[in-house]
Amino acid sequence: STQFIINDLKASVEGKEILKGINLEIKGGEIHAIMGPNGTGKSTLASALMGHPKYEVTDGTAHLNGEDILEMEVDERARAGMFLAMQYPSEITGVTNADFLRSAINARREEGNEISLIKFIRQMEGKMKELEMNPEFAHRYLNEGFSGGEKKRNEILQMMLLDPKLVILDEIDSGLDIDALRIVSNGVNAMRSEDRGFLVITHYQRLLNYIKPDFVHVMMQGRIVKSGGPELAERLENEGYDWVKEELGIVD
Ligand code: ADP
Ligand code: MG
Ligand code: MG
Repeated sequence: STQFIINDLKASVEGKEILKGINLEIKGGEIHAIMGPNGTGKSTLASALMGHPKYEVTDGTAHLNGEDILEMEVDERARAGMFLAMQYPSEITGVTNADFLRSAINARREEGNEISLIKFIRQMEGKMKELEMNPEFAHRYLNEGFSGGEKKRNEILQMMLLDPKLVILDEIDSGLDIDALRIVSNGVNAMRSEDRGFLVITHYQRLLNYIKPDFVHVMMQGRIVKSGGPELAERLENEGYDWVKEELGIVD
């Protein structure tokens, strides 16, 4: 079963330290939510774990099933089973969604063991149906002209096809109406398995009514300052973040 352990992770952007020592352990089958005010480092954590070049890891480790992913190149991290559904997915002109997905799948397979076109199309069409996506999205350029909600569905489509071991969802709920939120959440819930852990980053508690977390962590100023169960998310929804700051003596 999967195990993902982050130990004392520190990261900087443009010379400024944003992550100030993150510790987290996610086991297969578990969903961990990270909540926190804007600008607190949630997306930075996701980017640092995925190896985005703008985010410099200055200390700490992150082991996926015993392997330190921070030592890996970006493509190796994906092959090892790391997946990030981005807060702001990028648009790529000239590459169709289907081509992109097929290359991403094949990049994770051994040479000579690429997925057949027929099998790929069958899988992609099946998952697109589950996500109630218009089939024409397969042939459109990646994310180009997609609405916010369509981009998020497309991120979940990628997740489903790539079958990752550690899934990071960064504000997957932003820009989603209630129907799209339900569809996306169903997609995520269907992917729950003992072989897969989830890190769900969200600003709002609403998402956690659909994707039920086992653990909730509060991030502030680059640190996880409080951890608990789903009841913690509810209290944050009702009372905001000020009580956490007061409790911990955080001044901003
Ligand atoms: P959150 O996701 O919690 O809203 P972020 O991780 O996006 O927070 O940002 C944390 C801090 O790091 C903010 O002060 C933000 O301005 C800064 N930051 C993040 N990414 C960049 C970047 N690419 N360039 C410059 N500053 C950045
Ligand atoms: Mg933000
Ligand atoms: Mg963010």
